[in-house]
Formats: sequence, structure tokens, C-alpha cells
Amino acid sequence: MTAKQRSIEESRKDFDSYFKRVFNGFLSLVKGMWLTINIFSSPSRVITSEYPENRDTLKMHDRFRGQVIMPHNEEGDHNCTGCTLCEKACPNGTISILQTISPKSGKKVLGKFIYRFSQCTLCNLCIEACPFDAIFMGQEFEEAKTSRDDLVFVLNKREGKS
Ligand code: SF4
Ligand code: SF4
Repeated sequence: MTAKQRSIEESRKDFDSYFKRVFNGFLSLVKGMWLTINIFSSPSRVITSEYPENRDTLKMHDRFRGQVIMPHNEEGDHNCTGCTLCEKACPNGTISILQTISPKSGKKVLGKFIYRFSQCTLCNLCIEACPFDAIFMGQEFEEAKTSRDDLVFVLNKREGKS
């Protein structure tokens, strides 16, 4: 193949590639416009949440990670044994388990489960480490506070504070 033929061949390839890109761009534009028109003509499909107007009914999706919570039953009991596995699993010291001696059994039991929400990265490692399903990631999402002290919780107390 001569130099001239090579040059013609390269020009033809560039030309093809240019039109291919123009066609793909146009196709993507049509697809986008089609979706926009579709949503515009069926308002019931719009899934935008009008927050905060919908605050009372808003439910976060199941895998949402809010702060760590410890559910209590009606009697105020919880599943935590104070085993400290979650404390050990936490990579940044967000959890502190303070143990105490039970006056009944003389054995070590959970005294305070301290959780510092301002440090928590919501990584879920403590939840995975707990063998008793005592803690979960909560669904609460409005957690702004003016003081860091207000972000320290005692999870084994129902009211959340010591
Ligand atoms: S979610 Fe992660 S950072 Fe937060 S307390 Fe659990 S292990 Fe620690
Ligand atoms: S929350 Fe679970 S892992 Fe953590 S101390 Fe309690 S029982 Fe152990």
C-alpha cells in the first residue's frame, strides 16, 4: 500500500468514527428526552420526596444506616450481655462498654454501653460482631445537635442518657 493509499484509508476511518460518535450522541439524547417526556407525562411516577413536608410519613430505605440503637422490650430489657465484642470490633473507639459486678451473682455484667455518635462512621462492624442481635443501625436521620455532648448516648438505658 502506498503512502497516499494509507492516508486515504486513515481519513476514511476517521470519517467513520466521527459519524459513529455523532450517531451515538444523538441516540443518547433521544433516550434521555424519551425518559424525560415519559416522566413528565406521568406525574404519578415521580419519586421526589418533598422533605420536610413529608417528615411524618417519610421512611428511610431498609439498608439506611442511622445511629447505632439498642432496642428495649416493654419491660425495659435488652439483649446486650456486655460481652464487649462490638467494642473490640469498632475501629475508632466509638463504643465503650463499662462493666460492673452484679450484686446478685457476683459476676461481671453490663454497667453502661456508651456510644459516641459524633465519632461513629456508621460502618456497621459493631452490628456484625454482636452475637445476640442486641444492636442495630437505626432509621433516624435528623440528628443535628448544637453540642457534641448531646451526641453521647448510653444505649442500655431506655432514655439514652446516664
Ligand atoms: S458503626 Fe462502626 S464506627 Fe460506629 S460504633 Fe459501630 S463499629 Fe464503631
Ligand atoms: S451489643 Fe452485642 S456485642 Fe456489644 S456488648 Fe452487647 S451483646 Fe456484646
